[in-house]
Amino acid sequence: MPKFVYDFTEGSKELKDLLGGKGANLAEMTRLGLPVPPGFTITTEACRHYLSNGSPPEDLDAQIDTHLAALERAMGKRLGQPDDPLLVSVRSGAKHSMPGMMETVLNIGLNEESVAGLAAQSGDERFAWDSYRRLIQMFGRTVLGLDGDLFEEAVEAAKSSRGVVEDTGLGVDALKGLVGEFKDAVAEHTGHPFPDDPREQMRRAIRAVFDSWTAPRAVLYRRQERIPGDLGTAVNVCAMVFGNLGPDSGTGVAFTRDPATGAQGVYGDYLANAQGEDVVAGIRNTMPLADLETLAPDCYRSLLDIMERLENHYRDLCDIEFTIERGTLWMLQTRVGKRTAAAAFRIANQLLDQQVITLEEAADRVNGDQLAQLMFPRFTEDPDVPRDLLGRGMNASPGAAVGRAVFDSYTAVKWSRSGEDVILVRRETNPDDLDGMIAARGILTSRGGKTSHAAVVARGMGKTCVCGAEDLDVDTKNRRFTAPGGEIVEEGEVISVDGTTGEVFRGSVPVVSSPVVRYFEGEIDPASDQADDLVRAVHRIMNYVDAARRMYVRANADTAEDAARARRMGAQGIGLCRTEHMFLGSRRELVEALILAHTDGERADALDALLPLQCADFVEILAAMDGLPVTVRLLDPPLHEFLPDITELSVRVAVAEARGESVENDLRLLQAVHRLHEQNPMLGLRGVRLGLVVPGLFTMQVRAIAQAAAERRRAGGHPRPEVMIPLVGTVQELEIIRDESLAVLREVSEEYGVELDFPVGTMIELPRAALTAGPLAEHAEFFSFGTNDLTQTVWGFSRDDVEASFFSAYLEKGVFGASPFETLDIDGVGRLVQIAATEGRARRPDIKLGVCGEHGGDPASVHFFHDAGLDYVSCSPFRVPVARLEAGRAARRAT
Ligand code: PEP
Ligand code: MG
Repeated sequence: MPKFVYDFTEGSKELKDLLGGKGANLAEMTRLGLPVPPGFTITTEACRHYLSNGSPPEDLDAQIDTHLAALERAMGKRLGQPDDPLLVSVRSGAKHSMPGMMETVLNIGLNEESVAGLAAQSGDERFAWDSYRRLIQMFGRTVLGLDGDLFEEAVEAAKSSRGVVEDTGLGVDALKGLVGEFKDAVAEHTGHPFPDDPREQMRRAIRAVFDSWTAPRAVLYRRQERIPGDLGTAVNVCAMVFGNLGPDSGTGVAFTRDPATGAQGVYGDYLANAQGEDVVAGIRNTMPLADLETLAPDCYRSLLDIMERLENHYRDLCDIEFTIERGTLWMLQTRVGKRTAAAAFRIANQLLDQQVITLEEAADRVNGDQLAQLMFPRFTEDPDVPRDLLGRGMNASPGAAVGRAVFDSYTAVKWSRSGEDVILVRRETNPDDLDGMIAARGILTSRGGKTSHAAVVARGMGKTCVCGAEDLDVDTKNRRFTAPGGEIVEEGEVISVDGTTGEVFRGSVPVVSSPVVRYFEGEIDPASDQADDLVRAVHRIMNYVDAARRMYVRANADTAEDAARARRMGAQGIGLCRTEHMFLGSRRELVEALILAHTDGERADALDALLPLQCADFVEILAAMDGLPVTVRLLDPPLHEFLPDITELSVRVAVAEARGESVENDLRLLQAVHRLHEQNPMLGLRGVRLGLVVPGLFTMQVRAIAQAAAERRRAGGHPRPEVMIPLVGTVQELEIIRDESLAVLREVSEEYGVELDFPVGTMIELPRAALTAGPLAEHAEFFSFGTNDLTQTVWGFSRDDVEASFFSAYLEKGVFGASPFETLDIDGVGRLVQIAATEGRARRPDIKLGVCGEHGGDPASVHFFHDAGLDYVSCSPFRVPVARLEAGRAARRAT
């Protein structure tokens, strides 16, 4: 029989898989000789057995009995012993923290007899009956499945009938009365009396913890957080210590550093005369941990001493739960604590300074999501700037937005068109609000969580959003909202929304750019006084990851300005220069002329007019990226995107006809618009298909690139363009366009008398391209994975529609943990990337492999691309530092 039960003296922090996080850390603290109440942990393996067989392992009860006997010996009393009972807690503890998802039962071992023993031993009858009442309440709810409100309501009724406000105001008689009421409720709802046998209580509580692994909320949480569903939870059985034994007892939480800023010091909260759940439930106000120094100086000193030992031992910020029982300190939990993004960087840097961790470890203590958070603009922290806080909600999408409150999409669009900054305020949003969301600087909703429509769409757009601000009463009909203090904000009044903290202010709070961005932009010298400790921490870690990474990081940029910015941010070239915007604005007419051309001559005129304009674009971009590769993608979107809207044009023609005006040109245009209209344009005439059916279009573009390169060369530059062909599905498409391109390169080379020998490659954006990567590689010097289109085509998701229409429902139901357009779907899209990378390389060993879809700047995806052997990732300029960091972390992890 496997060993299913480990005493706290047997485990260690390395055994998280088997003992869960809580159990492993309790064992570790026990090994360190810290004051942990004795106990034992039932393994996750026992839970897995229970979950797959419907019953615990045969030997489990016997193993528990052995460990319980040892515990009883250590404590010198038996579980539920009538005159002096040992009481235990039964707590869940999975490998991954699942806050609030699973169950805990305290005070196991109490019954009508032992409650008297506890009263006698503690000399506190009230405490004994309060403990008993808590047992029935927790056991009733979690093990017997009674509605928790039933108990809460009875407690409230007892308090109000006695005119007391706090639980502690209930005396022995009141508590005895509640115990009676609770027991009656249990008998009525379950048909059985409340179990008196302490061992039976324990057995059932353990099962309830096992069962809580599969409770719907836990299943949903795991699905959303991508925690495997088959891990199971461990169960910790621990001798009770009591924080509710009077004023010299209490319970608290502590952090070894400030989890908000990383500063060293004493951080935490303490609640006298209370059990742990009182702190969490917020029933009474806690006091700052530092005040414990006067209340219980010995305990305080021991606690600080233990905190220091834990931090040195775990070599990281730890959070701690402790209880003081009549002047004796007990440790109930510790773990490496959560922290804000700024604290993560600062703490890593402090620990480096203290030589507690290495640079490699420091890079592992931070991540790209945290770095991205540090890069958003924020509201000033200047204490002299007055702020009028109206309320707060969830920090759904970071950033700082200021604008006039508007209460519907139509107004948002209208006002923003006339140059106003607006904040769209809604109870909740739905797909009809999309236009308003696009027009708004920020979004504020009073309902819905972090996976609500507003949150998902705002994050997708990179737009500031606070959602679920429930204390704001949003009245869209009367176009105003009311804050809890009664303050009313009418439409048109200015508000400020902080997507990083979830706060909403009246008026305009000044916005400052992030010092981390100013550092990346080269405006703050990390060695100067201008740099604060955060900037210095970021700088130090970035230096390390840049040296560590194997992958290059390029940027997606299609203007010289973006290219220059990307370069300042550390981009090592452009991985995707989209050329479509170069055909808009005043150039649109030339594209119209190209589309409407009847004769070769008309077409050639249109192309000749476009050529110098394109060439000038490329000259600028190549100059900004001089010496670094610039991958220019030939025109990709459907041609009709360059033509007028079909309805507007139809109306124009009809009106003109009615007035008897000449409509010849517009009619031709309208015919072209009809001809080019597609039901599914993303699957239609676009990408390489355009190059094949619109004569001269791609060759004009290649000529422009070649001429730009030749001119840059003449000017003494080092242009390194690369020609990229989009949406290729078959080798024949690639061959034709590539041959044409190479011919143009030769021509221009001769015309200018300079050697123009630059790579021609393809995007891999269609499943067929990925599956035929071997033959494609024979005609491509590089592949760039267009994972936006690849995700769209692998899933059959319209990328322009699905995020706003049904992704919030998919995320809520846990179909996926994150949008596959944000984080690469490794199992599906990733598999195709891997196949194409492997087969492409097999055919052409020196082929260059990169990615230029949005995933190139997503932390988890960057790790995958590293593992898949890609040479570079390319992402928007603002994400370049994130990709640098993650590429470095990925390289270190892999070694
Ligand atoms: C892609 O499809 O991943 C890509 C980069 O191209 P676009 O987003 O322009 O379609
Ligand atoms: Mg694409």
